[in-house]
Amino acid sequence: QKQVVPFQDGNASMKALLGGKGANLAEMIRAGLPVPPGFTITTEACLAFFKMGNRMSDELFRQVAAALKQLEKMKGQAFGDAANPLLVSVRSGSVSSMPGMMDTILNLGLNDSTVLGLAALTNNEKFAYDCYRRLMQMFGSVVMGIAAHHFEQLLHHRKEKEGAKQDQDVTAEGWKSLIEDYKKCILAQTGKSFPQNVHEQLRMSVEAVFKSWHNQRAQIYRELNRIPDEQGTAVNIQSMVFGNRGDNCGTGVVFTRNPSTGENAFFGEYLINAQGEDVVAGIRTPLPIAALKNEMPEIYEQLFEASRQLEKHYKDMQDIEFTVENNKLYLLQTRNGKRNAQAALKIAVDMVHEGLLTKMEAVGSIEVSHLDQLLHRGIEEEAVKDVLAKGLPASPGAAVGQLVFDADTAAEWNRAGKTVILARNETTPEDIHGVIASEGVLTSRGGMTSHAAVVARGMGKPCVCGCEEVRIVLNEKRMYAPNKVIEEGDWITLDGATGRIISGIMPLKEASMTDELLLMLEWADEIRTLNVYANADNPEDAQIARQLGAQGIGLCRTEHMFFSPTRLPVVQRMILADDKEDRLRALAQLLPMQQSDFEGMFEAMDGLPVTIRLLDPPLHEFLPNLEELQRRHAELTYDRSGSDLERKEVVQLLSKVQALHEANPMLGQRGCRLGIVFPEIYDMQIEAIFRAASNCINRGIRVLPEIMIPLVGHANELKIVRELVDLVAEQVLGKDSLRDCPYKVGTMIEVPRAALTARQIVAYADFFSFGTNDLTQMTFGYSRDDAEGKFLTHYVDQKLLQHNPFQVLDTDGVGQLIDLAVNAGRLVKPSLKTGICGEHGGDKESIFFCHLTGLDYVSCSPYRIPLARIAAAQAFI
Ligand code: ADP
Ligand code: MG
Ligand code: MG
Repeated sequence: QKQVVPFQDGNASMKALLGGKGANLAEMIRAGLPVPPGFTITTEACLAFFKMGNRMSDELFRQVAAALKQLEKMKGQAFGDAANPLLVSVRSGSVSSMPGMMDTILNLGLNDSTVLGLAALTNNEKFAYDCYRRLMQMFGSVVMGIAAHHFEQLLHHRKEKEGAKQDQDVTAEGWKSLIEDYKKCILAQTGKSFPQNVHEQLRMSVEAVFKSWHNQRAQIYRELNRIPDEQGTAVNIQSMVFGNRGDNCGTGVVFTRNPSTGENAFFGEYLINAQGEDVVAGIRTPLPIAALKNEMPEIYEQLFEASRQLEKHYKDMQDIEFTVENNKLYLLQTRNGKRNAQAALKIAVDMVHEGLLTKMEAVGSIEVSHLDQLLHRGIEEEAVKDVLAKGLPASPGAAVGQLVFDADTAAEWNRAGKTVILARNETTPEDIHGVIASEGVLTSRGGMTSHAAVVARGMGKPCVCGCEEVRIVLNEKRMYAPNKVIEEGDWITLDGATGRIISGIMPLKEASMTDELLLMLEWADEIRTLNVYANADNPEDAQIARQLGAQGIGLCRTEHMFFSPTRLPVVQRMILADDKEDRLRALAQLLPMQQSDFEGMFEAMDGLPVTIRLLDPPLHEFLPNLEELQRRHAELTYDRSGSDLERKEVVQLLSKVQALHEANPMLGQRGCRLGIVFPEIYDMQIEAIFRAASNCINRGIRVLPEIMIPLVGHANELKIVRELVDLVAEQVLGKDSLRDCPYKVGTMIEVPRAALTARQIVAYADFFSFGTNDLTQMTFGYSRDDAEGKFLTHYVDQKLLQHNPFQVLDTDGVGQLIDLAVNAGRLVKPSLKTGICGEHGGDKESIFFCHLTGLDYVSCSPYRIPLARIAAAQAFI
């Protein structure tokens, strides 16, 4: 079996076997682009390596040796040959792009004797020794596991000794001394010498790249991006080209379009006389690619042409790595570029207009999880006073948080519930967990293509980078801005759109929809068959939802209307009433309040359905906290403080609250159980709904109320409440107006028994709405509040559960109940309307499931509606 594939034998469709990098290098060669030759060790070889307990098989050795022979022939050089040495890079290449998460080693094949050959051949001793020290540095840290700062410190001392400002100011003699320092360091740190045998170097490097699949940052990245662990990584062995040979050499990264704004403009950065990682690692702040036009016009032209060609070929914005050696251009990588949501939209829309993509392809290309960030906030400009400094606008959006200076602290503080902003001189892949934990990222060095910028954009987090005006002093935990010192824990605001760092907490404003988003949503609406409703409890939210494209309200929780400070006392009086008379008096006071809410909802949703759920939570949620009452009672009893009147009141209140107290309120007297035992409550709510409807109809508004009964578990429960609804509707509207108000009565399916007996329940239901929060709780038997803080996180960490079922619908279990209920219900009543109104309604994978199960709609919070519209279209595609 072939475990090694030469670049010229591969192509882009072999990505699963060759990894993204290898497949695309092969594809570029096929397209006639200048790529240094090499070969790929496949992902299958990697998996076999893991299976054999991290050992390369003899067969793999044989195939690598054969491919290396062939490469030597193509290059006219020999690996380890002192007179004419072949040098290679060993590059990781996973199937799904994981920028910077895995390891790469350059200049392999150098040792004490081949370095002399390289110096003689190139007539450039300084260059040859620069390559050699880079190899030792990379090999030392990646393969031999020595912390990078050891090498950095030695380099720093050497530069000081030489009086060199930049790396390229160091002389050949300087590099030679540094190499001796490095050798000693490697020996001291590991007890082993840097291997002079080049085949040994190669073997160890390949093994290290394989193993880097399991390093911590790669694992975190995979988890975040839901990349399966079983993929493994390919390894690319590629002949070296050198951007660090002199001033007609260089290296850089270009994007075919601006990854931050989406603008169709060639975008990128480069460094003259530098090698590979220098640009992405942010060691020197690079020049904008436009400068290359003057410095190397022909190279610029060639690069531009190649990038156009690649973008057309892949039908997507490309992120391209290149190197120039002695005025000759080489391409070293291309991939679909990471971009933030705004850029993604603009690029997709532009590409449709350019005829590069169809509308369907464009809608399909949108990463829905990034859409929220678009509907997120910018800074309220009037409030901005204290701008501390300005850096590069690397990833737009505004972030407010407490400043921290290292990734561990960021993660720790985030766990403690704080919002943080991570500030670093430059980020490295080891900081990934800190970036995840932060609201935004700030770096003092590195350009728009630096690691921090790429990763932040990919995650949709605001980022300001290359802010050289500030000085970050790690051991002091301080950041020195030109006019102010910021300590760890101080609040700052980042504006990723302009690059500003602002002192303090700036008020943020919601973003408005861009033209591109509106267009994309229009296209999505043309495609999708699943309707999108909103969960909204008040007229303001309903209006926002409608603006964002809601086709109705799928869930209006009436109890939320009870919580306002003016209403709560009336609600409490209603609950605490001594007798029915008393209760009716309080309900009569609540009625007009509810009625006006409903009128506002109907008005906002004129012509669209409004699903109103009758009172759901247990009554004691509206009452004072039992423990607090008990404490106050004890105080009043023992120290005799307070008046007799207060004592009497507290005693009364306490006994009622105690009477209503339940050991497990989620499974207690709530939902329709409450409405059946105290029918006057539902009676009032239903009356308020139809009075509101009647008023609205008189004002010319089209009203489509859908009354939803919560927590039904037995058909008889629904039967009783439905009769009540029909009775009250007729009483309020009269037979004549009933026609103008085509209302529906339905139920939430959130108790497993309801799903199981859907056939009986549907007799009284015009619609089913799956309340997947409760349904998940009751199907798993997890109390959500207890589960998430305790075992659930553990379960997900251990991969015992793939996802938190409260975030991603459990299609195997809960989904089966949904499927069953939909089918059983429709069999009896083909016109049955079905939807989902749990939090899952705004989750992409759950939306896909709803589409496949044939639900009529999903209902989600207003700000997730655009996301749901796109996801619903993608489900269709
Ligand atoms: P990553 O996946 O982290 O981007 P790469 O394998 O792409 O790692 O390597 C990082 C950089 O090293 C590349 O962008 C390129 O500049 C440089 N590099 C890799 N292989 C070679 C090579 N054969 N010749 C010259 N430079 C190389
Ligand atoms: Mg790369
Ligand atoms: Mg519920």
